Amino acid sequence: MTTVEQTDDTGVSPEATPEREVVLELDDLVMHFGQVRAVDGVSLSIRRGQVTALVGESGSGKSTVGRCIVRLVEPTAGTVRLAGHDVTHLSRRELRPHRRDVAIVFQDPAGSLDPRMLVGEIVAEPLRLQAGRLSRRERAERVADGLRRVGLRPEVARRYPHELSGGQRQRVSLARALMSAPKLLVADEPTSALDVSVQAAVLNLLADLQRDIGFACLFITHDLAAVEYLADDIAVMYLGQLAEQGSREEIFARPRHPYTQALLAAAPIADPVRQRSRVPVLLGDDLPSAMDPPPGCRFHTRCPVAVARCSEEVPALRLVGGGARVACHLVAQDGTGPDVRTDAPSTTGHPA
Ligand code: SF4
Repeated sequence: MTTVEQTDDTGVSPEATPEREVVLELDDLVMHFGQVRAVDGVSLSIRRGQVTALVGESGSGKSTVGRCIVRLVEPTAGTVRLAGHDVTHLSRRELRPHRRDVAIVFQDPAGSLDPRMLVGEIVAEPLRLQAGRLSRRERAERVADGLRRVGLRPEVARRYPHELSGGQRQRVSLARALMSAPKLLVADEPTSALDVSVQAAVLNLLADLQRDIGFACLFITHDLAAVEYLADDIAVMYLGQLAEQGSREEIFARPRHPYTQALLAAAPIADPVRQRSRVPVLLGDDLPSAMDPPPGCRFHTRCPVAVARCSEEVPALRLVGGGARVACHLVAQDGTGPDVRTDAPSTTGHPA
């Protein structure tokens, strides 16, 4: 677990775990697609062995952040640093030496695996990036090891993706992603296209692999139960920007941002007693368009506790008590502020 002490403005804690290298550093990342401001100034860092969950509704820009990191798209502005290297604007050729450092697993394994290729060829693909040629036999052994690692029999190498179940296909995606021993795995909603019955198994596998291998992971999801199970840190995104970031314990125990509070209030929890005692928070309208985000705090059109200042002034993401970073005018420096779940705004240290 990563403890957030005094952090710099990207959330890196210099004193916290000095032996762990920063694997991913995003500095003021911006990704606009024409008029659509999908990502608008996201800064965060992930250290080796750390799992950071990036959560938010669909349309929040969280998948676009993942696509910028693996350079499926070239960011409009800001910086993406992988293992200390600035990869933001590298060409395909320049990117090649850094491709091994990062891998991605997508939501829909059926769409991300080439149906014309055998599973063995798919899993072996990242080996092409490695220096030195492997013999056929060495390649086959590496593929068999990779398949075993994700709980599949080596014989699966001779099958086509369509011959496998959804869960097996996602295991193949994981085997391929880990073949180059990446320092960072971007897992973009890796279980949400799967049957509920196999989601837990794939999630367990991801957790086991992460623990055993120790890669850093950006886990993009809207599934807060999965976040509670897997993540060390949580970054909450709203309409292209970070609303709140902190350790899993801190965010679940003391969510400060009204949007985080609403998300947590809407998530189903296993304990029926706790579930019954919860107050639902109605956010009202749908997510506003990223083509024309609201001025001031982007959440103000849906925020149950918004004040006049919220529609005029953009709240900065700042460090508050408990080591979390929060972008809300009503959260005081000591972390106190309103709680939209209990509708009992705190009056202490109210800076608005
Ligand atoms: Fe709500 Fe205002 Fe805080 Fe935004 S800044 S979350 S609108 S209270």
